[in-house]
Amino acid sequence: MPFCYECGGRLVYERETKTYVCQGCGFTYTSQELLVERERRFNSKFEADKRKKKHQEYLEWWLSSKS
Ligand SMILES: [Zn+2]
Repeated sequence: MPFCYECGGRLVYERETKTYVCQGCGFTYTSQELLVERERRFNSKFEADKRKKKHQEYLEWWLSSKS
């Protein structure tokens, strides 16, 4: 069962409207929107990790250049 990207609440599928409804905040997602959102979150996490790694490499370079 997927979880709401807004509040982390549980999403319940409603067959009549073909949407996922959040039990926490009432936000609704279509399955397409869920896929897009998941992709977007995954990519932004990936970007953040890449930035963090770059910063780490810079720090190491800076520290080694001092000694
Ligand atoms: Zn929610």
